[in-house]
Amino acid sequence: MIDFKNTQIAFEAKSNADLHRAKFLFNTISHPWIVKLGKVFVYVTTKIRFPVGWLLKPTIYKQFVGGETLKKCTPLAQQLMKYNICSIFDYSAEGGGSAKDIQQTFDEFICSIGYAKNNKNVAYTVFKPTALVSDELLKKASAKAELNEEEQKQYDEYQQRFEKLCQRAYDNDVRILVDAEDYCFQDAIDEFTEEMMRKFNKKRAIVFTTLQMYRHDRLAYLEKLYNDAVENNYTVGMKFVRGAYMEKERERANQLGYPDPICPTKQATDENYNNGLRYVIEHLDKFEVFSGTHNEESNTVLVELIEKYNLDPNDNRIFFSQLYGMSDNLSYNLAHESYNVAKYIPYAPVKKVLPYLIRRAEENTAIAGQTTRELELIRTEIRRRKAEKKNSKN
Ligand SMILES: Cc1cc2nc3c(=O)[nH]c(=O)nc-3n(C[C@H](O)[C@H](O)[C@H](O)COP(=O)(O)OP(=O)(O)OC[C@H]3O[C@@H](n4cnc5c(N)ncnc54)[C@H](O)[C@@H]3O)c2cc1C
Repeated sequence: MIDFKNTQIAFEAKSNADLHRAKFLFNTISHPWIVKLGKVFVYVTTKIRFPVGWLLKPTIYKQFVGGETLKKCTPLAQQLMKYNICSIFDYSAEGGGSAKDIQQTFDEFICSIGYAKNNKNVAYTVFKPTALVSDELLKKASAKAELNEEEQKQYDEYQQRFEKLCQRAYDNDVRILVDAEDYCFQDAIDEFTEEMMRKFNKKRAIVFTTLQMYRHDRLAYLEKLYNDAVENNYTVGMKFVRGAYMEKERERANQLGYPDPICPTKQATDENYNNGLRYVIEHLDKFEVFSGTHNEESNTVLVELIEKYNLDPNDNRIFFSQLYGMSDNLSYNLAHESYNVAKYIPYAPVKKVLPYLIRRAEENTAIAGQTTRELELIRTEIRRRKAEKKNSKN
């Protein structure tokens, strides 16, 4: 069994300075009040257009973001590949909803597919459907509300962009992940992603849908997808995550008076996630699997399933993934044992990636144990290196 606490392997790519910077950072964001203050600071400085790059770039940006452009991220991808870790470059500019912003983001998604073509360092490309259309419109379409003429035109344009990305991925033989987002958008996203999988996944999985396993209806949906794939003869590209918007979803369901879509407990979400993994590995004739989680148990479950069904650790249909800057103990130890691993690496200029950075800081403050875990591992490695140095002197 893999020892996820092996910090020597986990941090072999990190210098002592890197480790101390990460320690300082996780220590800082472990305090909710600092994160709240930071959020206000970022909001105010953005409003008055005060530059904050000089403060964020060497700290939180360096920890969680690959760089400003794909080109600037290239050395990072090469560095990760030295440790058998692939990259997934995720253009994470947020906040702009104008037609110009949408076009610019779409162009960047297209570039990222070209960048991934024949690039052995890059395992998948990824996009967020909400970056291609306004939230209001996607919400309306998801609720099957009637669209007026102008809305219908915009919605058609959105679906054309979505399809162009899948087509481009297919033409370049690059796998493309469709991120999952808020519950109120998801039906429309799921429906169109299914259509794209039917069209482009005939020979292998090119388009990957995302299931947020904190939703209690997702195992039933998984079975429905399997039956559809059998009936229509295609492979389902299946990205699993637990889901990032729990508090928001619960609050919204409460406010609008519909049943909470989220599992009642963390344990129920964990069981859902692990049962999802079991289901796809048992039906691997119709699935390719992408497991996006920092949860040690779920990573162990997948390793055990690979062993149980005598699959190769590096079976190209199965990938483990963690976000850049987090859970290196999982990524590096899995890759060391020849499992397929890909880091999700956001990239964008500092001011465009601020909402993403705030979410990372909040998540690391909010998720019980995540920051503590990161800190413990970093401290252990710092101690291990000190002891090693001392021993080598003696
Ligand atoms: C590679 C990668 C890609 C991702 N892509 C997406 C994406 O497309 N869409 C998206 O929404 N998120 C995405 N995420 C984020 C993901 O959904 C989780 O928020 C994050 O990874 C934390 O969950 P975990 O499985 O890593 O670990 P854990 O720390 O074990 O789980 C925390 C998660 O458990 C769930 N949870 C916590 N408490 C409860 C409770 N009381 N009741 C029910 N459930 C609970 C929540 O989902 C919470 O985020 C991605 C994560 C990774 C690593």
